[in-house]
Amino acid sequence: MVTDDRSPVATPTNFSAASTPSTASSTLRVRVDQAECTGDGLCVQLAPTVFEFDIDGLAYVKGADGELRTRAGASVPVPLPLVDDVVAAADDCPGSCIYVERPDGTLEAGPGS
Ligand code: SF4
Repeated sequence: MVTDDRSPVATPTNFSAASTPSTASSTLRVRVDQAECTGDGLCVQLAPTVFEFDIDGLAYVKGADGELRTRAGASVPVPLPLVDDVVAAADDCPGSCIYVERPDGTLEAGPGS
């Protein structure tokens, strides 16, 4: 049977818009304390857009520009679509060294949260 489905979801224009990833940031920021990082890579697996290893084998956060933030205590905004993955990384981090912080500095996830 032939149908005449002209729903907007099937149009190429809407498909293109729907496939564009959101780059919006949440109000949360995340940082890693490399002094406690075990280098196991859990965070890099869960959120490779936010965490990456440097040549020292430790995880660092990276910004929307893809550059690692290697200064001690450096943090980056958590991309809105990745909040759950970043919080999961902080909750499960074997080194207990991922800190997800709210704008007022209190912890959303991480050691002591
Ligand atoms: S999950 Fe934690 S301990 Fe493991 S690499 Fe990432 S920051 Fe380091």
